[in-house]
Amino acid sequence: MIDVCLAGTGGMLPLPDRWLTCFWLEFGGKAALIDCGEGTQITLAKEGCKLSRLDALFITHTHADHISGLPGLLLSIGNCGRTEPLTIYGFDGIGYVIDQLSCICPILPFRVEVRELSCTERSHFTWNGLEVQSLPLHHRMDCLGYSFTLHRKPVFNPQKAKALGIPVQYWKQLHAGETLTLNGMEYTQDMVTDEARKPLKLTYMTDTVYFPEMVDFAKDSDLLVCEGMYGDDDYIPKMREKGHMVFSQAAELAKESGSSRLWLTHYSPALSNPAEYTEMVQAIFPDTVVSTDGQRMTLK
Ligand SMILES: [Zn+2]
Ligand SMILES: [Zn+2]
Repeated sequence: MIDVCLAGTGGMLPLPDRWLTCFWLEFGGKAALIDCGEGTQITLAKEGCKLSRLDALFITHTHADHISGLPGLLLSIGNCGRTEPLTIYGFDGIGYVIDQLSCICPILPFRVEVRELSCTERSHFTWNGLEVQSLPLHHRMDCLGYSFTLHRKPVFNPQKAKALGIPVQYWKQLHAGETLTLNGMEYTQDMVTDEARKPLKLTYMTDTVYFPEMVDFAKDSDLLVCEGMYGDDDYIPKMREKGHMVFSQAAELAKESGSSRLWLTHYSPALSNPAEYTEMVQAIFPDTVVSTDGQRMTLK
């Protein structure tokens, strides 16, 4: 199970009723946060996201609306008594920006470890048992999208294990993927399980123009969180120039990628009522949510 919360949905500037876009995900008792614009620690507190669980930060890029809340967030994490190192992931070169921002929060009770990722190709790594990928996006500066995949063990079938005469005390290790040798016979996981289960996948992409590789990156997402600055297609040329997308492009992306649901985020401060475009965008991709701050779900 992965619990997620889109704690903010704004782009550029925080508004009284709309915090800047940031995405919280929690799995196995540890949490990760993508982006931390101004005031992120306030919206996290409002939404009940526990900083004591935060283990890693993923930064898309260094425009202020995605990183200017970092010093305040680090101080808040320190206030929770954290002493273990905290890892911050971002594009190649982000360490310099983090160093500069950290000069206003120089004394922290924990160490910050920066992991820089390629700006030109996908990176693959693991965080907390989840497979993580980053994709360089097309924005006005280096920017990364992230996906998180939970690979799940196939369901154990006790009938199969019994039929093979395998004693119960070996079931757990066999289900975990270990090969078992008993009385000269070799047993493997596939002999005692049902068919493979589909992995759980989350994809988060902002800020970017639409480009074809996004479709493959978001392929088969259970949840795609994608930017849309405006609901009106008339803004497409202007947004392309500024490195952004509109709602219909995100909906087309969700459809083309075979994603199960789409949450829109990163609205322009000039867009006062994003919900008025709900019908239009659901006509393209029915499982679209024009998100508001605090949108949450459990993926299972
Ligand atoms: Zn932005
Ligand atoms: Zn930006």
